[in-house]
Amino acid sequence: MLRQVAEGVLIHESEFCQSNAVVVHGRAGVLLIDPGVQNHELACLANDLSDSGQTVVAGFSTHPDWDHLLWHPQLGAAPRYGTARCSASVRDQLSDPDAKAHIADHLLETEIAGQVPLDLLGLITALPAETAQIPWDGPQARIIEHQAHAPGHAALFIEERGVLVAGDMLSDVLVPMLDLNGTADPIEDYLAALRLLESVAGDVDVLVPGHGSVGGADQVHARIERDRAYVLALREGHVPDDPRIGPSAKPGWEWVSDVHDGQAKRLARRSERDGTPG
Ligand SMILES: [Zn+2]
Repeated sequence: MLRQVAEGVLIHESEFCQSNAVVVHGRAGVLLIDPGVQNHELACLANDLSDSGQTVVAGFSTHPDWDHLLWHPQLGAAPRYGTARCSASVRDQLSDPDAKAHIADHLLETEIAGQVPLDLLGLITALPAETAQIPWDGPQARIIEHQAHAPGHAALFIEERGVLVAGDMLSDVLVPMLDLNGTADPIEDYLAALRLLESVAGDVDVLVPGHGSVGGADQVHARIERDRAYVLALREGHVPDDPRIGPSAKPGWEWVSDVHDGQAKRLARRSERDGTPG
């Protein structure tokens, strides 16, 4: 079921990790951002759109993680954009002929095993580097690309509607998940990304994270601050005082504490290895 969060902007929430698909109404159809996860949810979204007389004229994936790269045949054949870096990362992943089989294997450990349509995964059209906005006939969707959670990760800011689609940043349930593969300074990258999001925060009325609850204007700075505090604590090697981990984690989200432990350990090993402080 689609739920309106701002004029002409609706979300479709998945049962899986509270993933949010975002629909933005344009003049000739909709822009669909991170369509969703399970087959029946994607079909439901496609039906909701066709029932309301809407077709998808453009897609966008905020970053190259499988849960943001899915599609359903009923959503049609519109171009599905991503940043140049996102698209390069997807191409690289899919150059392994077993890539989809690995994702399917990984899903076997979850409650959505066999429910995720992988056929159309990752058919991303690269936007040229430095593209400022989504090429489509609708409210301007500014691309705010940064290096933080994944290569070529981008938030979209739909200024006319006051909506920031944050991808896997600024979640109320997931702690910042750093990209620890292949970037020289994941902590500083993440802090820089938060500063970039902060530069538009004053104009945001509605914040839609890739996973978690939609936030109002009052949540934007609070979530940026909380993520920054988390990342700074990681840098200093402190245990972050963060409601998303430990005993205060929401029921069903206890695994986020394991994500935290895992990245804290990897960062500690990294700084031991190259002698960088903290
Ligand atoms: Zn995700």
